Amino acid sequence: MVVAVEYISKEESADAETAKHGVTGILAVQGAFAEHAAMLDKLGAQWKLLRAAEDFDDSIDRVILPGGESTTQGKLLRSTGLFEPIAAHIAAGKPVFGTCAGMILLAKRLENDDNVYFGALDATVRRNAYGRQLGSFASTADFGDIKDFPLVFIRGPFVSDVGADATIETEVDGRVVGLRQGNILATAFHPELTDDTRIHELFLSL
Ligand code: GLN
Repeated sequence: MVVAVEYISKEESADAETAKHGVTGILAVQGAFAEHAAMLDKLGAQWKLLRAAEDFDDSIDRVILPGGESTTQGKLLRSTGLFEPIAAHIAAGKPVFGTCAGMILLAKRLENDDNVYFGALDATVRRNAYGRQLGSFASTADFGDIKDFPLVFIRGPFVSDVGADATIETEVDGRVVGLRQGNILATAFHPELTDDTRIHELFLSL
């Protein structure tokens, strides 16, 4: 009897752990998805790579859109059939974290590109906004309440106009590079390329 009770309580605590973090689906059609997976490993959180539509199963309760090349990612989202389940996930208000190209995929408006992908983040984003010379650089700034976060930029965008639904979380030299809109987090920089897990922890807490 006692053994049975202990067994049940262990099962429940395993469920509670899964419920706390869920399984993070990491878009893995192109780009820096492995670095996000390594970050989640550091935090002991479960993840699953999303390469095909059938990878998006009921276990997925949050999604990461990694850096890479947004035009290529957009095409592969369509051809794999992953666009629809991820769009539905975002439309349902579930957590999503876009870094760099991922921010571009989330934006409602792109300043220098005719495409719009998930069209969820109330902002206008300019691709390759820093030009060739300054395309890749490092800096430090806050992301909301997270102070002094190391910022790594690789041919990143910045936000040229922030709509009413989004909140500015990070600014560098007067440029907006981090946004939050409910359960959407978006950074023009790459937290997954640093040792600092705080933004990923915030994402897992959503
Ligand atoms: N320059 C890329 C784009 O416009 C984004 C760069 C990145 O994700 N590191 O899609």
